[in-house]
Amino acid sequence: MTAVTAVRGIDPAALDELRRIVGDRYVLISDGDVEPFSRDATPLFRARPDAVVLPADTAQISAVLTLATRLGIPVTPRGAGSNLSAATIPEHGGIVLVLTRMNKILEVNAGELLAVVQAGATTAELYDAAAALGLLYPPDPGSRTVSTVAGNVAMCAGGLRGLKYGVTRNYVLGLEAVLPTGEVIRTGGRLWKDVAGYDLTRLLTGSEGTLAVITEITVGLLPLPATAGTGVAYFDDLSDAGRAVARIIADGVLPATLEFLDNRCINAVEDFAGLGLDRQAGALLLFGDDGSAEHVELSLDRMAATCAAIGARGVTRARDVVESDALLAARRCSLPALARLAPITMLEDVTVPRPKLAEMVRTIDAIAARHEVVCATFGHAGDGNLHPTIVFDPHDGDARLRAEAAFDEVFHAAMNLGGTITGEHGVGAAKRPWLNARLGEDQMALLRRVKTAFDPAGILNPGKLGS
Ligand SMILES: Cc1cc2nc3c(=O)[nH]c(=O)nc-3n(C[C@H](O)[C@H](O)[C@H](O)COP(=O)(O)OP(=O)(O)OC[C@H]3O[C@@H](n4cnc5c(N)ncnc54)[C@H](O)[C@@H]3O)c2cc1C
Repeated sequence: MTAVTAVRGIDPAALDELRRIVGDRYVLISDGDVEPFSRDATPLFRARPDAVVLPADTAQISAVLTLATRLGIPVTPRGAGSNLSAATIPEHGGIVLVLTRMNKILEVNAGELLAVVQAGATTAELYDAAAALGLLYPPDPGSRTVSTVAGNVAMCAGGLRGLKYGVTRNYVLGLEAVLPTGEVIRTGGRLWKDVAGYDLTRLLTGSEGTLAVITEITVGLLPLPATAGTGVAYFDDLSDAGRAVARIIADGVLPATLEFLDNRCINAVEDFAGLGLDRQAGALLLFGDDGSAEHVELSLDRMAATCAAIGARGVTRARDVVESDALLAARRCSLPALARLAPITMLEDVTVPRPKLAEMVRTIDAIAARHEVVCATFGHAGDGNLHPTIVFDPHDGDARLRAEAAFDEVFHAAMNLGGTITGEHGVGAAKRPWLNARLGEDQMALLRRVKTAFDPAGILNPGKLGS
């Protein structure tokens, strides 16, 4: 995991051309202006772009990409830059293409159960616009107030509702996108059922800005559930929480939320937000469901009973929406709470089959102890998706090397258990060293052939996803 410096420049004539396409004020080149775009939410990665370009519409993006392909200028698409895998670090310099000016909610259609948004609309804006018409956009990443919908699509973001509702890919019906060569394509459309041709919508979903620039997204919506409820169970041991998760799902309950925090997370969150959590507990399991009042009541009763039967040291239910929101806040603020423990917070993102959850948690703890790193783990227990997080002070001797060595073992351990190196945060530059081990040579070669078909000059987010 290393920072890479820019290696190419953009000649003055090309800069003039960019200014002509998007307007002078939307081409940034000074150190101060481009600095925020040299990094994203991933620690330790940084590279300076030669220019930051902020287009206003699809036609401008097409013109920028046509120019970039002609001159071989690298282009890194970017939304809010909230990704956690160094996916927007412009390792080869060139242009960072920022989509945040294209941020309109174009349509919310209750009759068709869909919405159409521009790339740079935030997830929360889409959620709120749908909710205003009694509809639900289920994908719910913790970053939803800042992350863009196109960023979610490009990373196939998950979130707190994954178990019951799936992830971003389950809601993308159609895309407008611009190929690196400048052609504007439309994939899918407004249909829930459409199997004509290869599913390019799914291919672009999770493509991490390497195949095309997404400009407009059509998403499917659901009716907004009538009500929701949340409860919390505390366990002496994280393994018990893992067993409770397996039992809840085996019992046929499909909760909207099933999240966990280990003891270090509980204490960090309590220090951060003072929510009255049980600081002595080895693990906290947050369980929740939505639907009709009767359904929610029954579902929460069953989950509470299962946690008690597994030996929870305490089980409580939120009495109202305010209490429910406070419990969900405990989960949502895990990352900022942990970030206060030390200057560097390395958050990872492995997923294992659900029955292996408890074993993976034990393995992470053993690895952390062996490498003498401070590691806290939280995650989407219902999806088997864990976020082991190592915090350290970069001035503390070889702390960074120990953290990297620990994560290397964590990734291999996850794969050995039938899991993966990333469940929702993507590969980016951060996970690149492990992609080959996860996919194998044949699949990597196929990925590269797909990349070439979309991007013959190799300009779009070069170096990412094995390209
Ligand atoms: C506090 C916090 C909580 C988070 N919680 C979650 C979570 O619960 N679940 C989760 O999955 N992630 C989570 N994330 C990670 C992150 O928010 C997601 O990956 C999100 O989808 C990134 O959106 P963005 O707009 O910031 O995209 P960026 O970070 O700007 O870009 C991400 C990727 O998308 C590409 N991209 C962006 N826009 C386009 C476009 N228009 N066309 C083509 N490619 C594009 C970029 O090139 C890059 O590869 C969290 C991050 C933070 C900081």
